[in-house]
Amino acid sequence: MSETKRLVLLGSTGSIGTQALDVAEKLGYPVLALTAHRQVDVIEAQIRKFRPRYAAMSDKNAAADLKARVADLPVTVLSGAEGLCELAALPEADVVLNAIVGVAGLRPTMAALTAGHDVALANKETLVAGGALVTETAKAHGVRLLPVDSEHSAIFQCLQGAPVERALKRVILTASGGPFFGKTREQLADVTAADALRHPNWDMGAKITIDSATMMNKGLELIEARWLFDMPPEKIDIVVHRESIIHSLIEYDDNAVLAQLGLPDMRIPIQYALTYPRRVASPAETLSLAEIGTLTFFEPDNVTFPAMDLCRRALTVGGTAPAAVNAANEAAVALFLKGEIGFLDITAKAARMLAYTWPALNSLDDVLAADREARELVQKG
Ligand code: NAD
Ligand code: MG
Repeated sequence: MSETKRLVLLGSTGSIGTQALDVAEKLGYPVLALTAHRQVDVIEAQIRKFRPRYAAMSDKNAAADLKARVADLPVTVLSGAEGLCELAALPEADVVLNAIVGVAGLRPTMAALTAGHDVALANKETLVAGGALVTETAKAHGVRLLPVDSEHSAIFQCLQGAPVERALKRVILTASGGPFFGKTREQLADVTAADALRHPNWDMGAKITIDSATMMNKGLELIEARWLFDMPPEKIDIVVHRESIIHSLIEYDDNAVLAQLGLPDMRIPIQYALTYPRRVASPAETLSLAEIGTLTFFEPDNVTFPAMDLCRRALTVGGTAPAAVNAANEAAVALFLKGEIGFLDITAKAARMLAYTWPALNSLDDVLAADREARELVQKG
């Protein structure tokens, strides 16, 4: 028997957002609201197709433009971060999928949780920056964070039916290794944004593609796993797996290891987060292991890619240090994409944040203040 959920989709114009609409269409889920930053053309077409009652643009000029363009439709267009938060908290919603990139997704996540909505979370920066605050808010409102990130979806799927005493020894995140697997630091000094944007297995937004090239993405995912699964960082391992077929694994105290496999297609974890706890047919292709033949595994190279250890250290420091590292990384990736800093400078700038003392994390304002300060430090060079 199928079940329908009314969906609010934040970040609908991006890589995850467009795939989520694909999934929602196949599932027959009604779309209540769509949001984006500036991509007016894309969201206008989405509104004409999916007929949501609400839309919002975080950029105010884009909101005014969109409003004029869809004046013939019964859709209310809101604007700014407040508009996004209002839609994240829509009382009629059954699930909110957050596919925004960056810490801009944190306030909408908090708004959705506080309104009592389950959040299907692609926006990993929410958990990296907001950590304990976000998980405590979900708990306090009796709602779930449903992972969309493929590794965390894999762990979440492996944990279904786990005994109450889960006796988990560790979780093992798989990493593709990105476009620069096997390279040395010297070879990476002069790589350009175009080189770094060529990911071998996944077609994603620019920011996460650069994060995959620096392996910061795996560091952010380590922090994400710490909060989603309440696992101390020393129980989270990373293994490089070039084929991206095993999406992650868990190991119990008796050394039994469980894994989730599939072709690299984000529509599988997106759909599971939306239909959870049900499973229904997917448009994604079937996995044929015989066709793939060989799966390979390597230790991560923490010398060429220090971002993973950096994120581990940020977690150990705690408080708003992970928020600062995340913000510095966002700012540095933007500079790299503009050609203003080198590839190795990205992680170096994020690492510099740990030379400062960061305050405790007691409120959303604490996170946002650390985020602002870290960005200023990066801008100052
Ligand atoms: P993307 O850049 O393709 O899309 C980002 C979306 O967020 C767009 O709709 C954009 O309009 C919106 N947005 C951008 N800046 C905003 C702002 N300041 N305020 C509000 N909205 C804003 O990104 P993506 O690749 O779809 O990634 C989205 C999130 O999902 C990221 O956190 C990423 O790490 C995570 N994720 C992505 C993938 C993937 O395959 N793309 C996989 C796992 C996790
Ligand atoms: Mg991932």
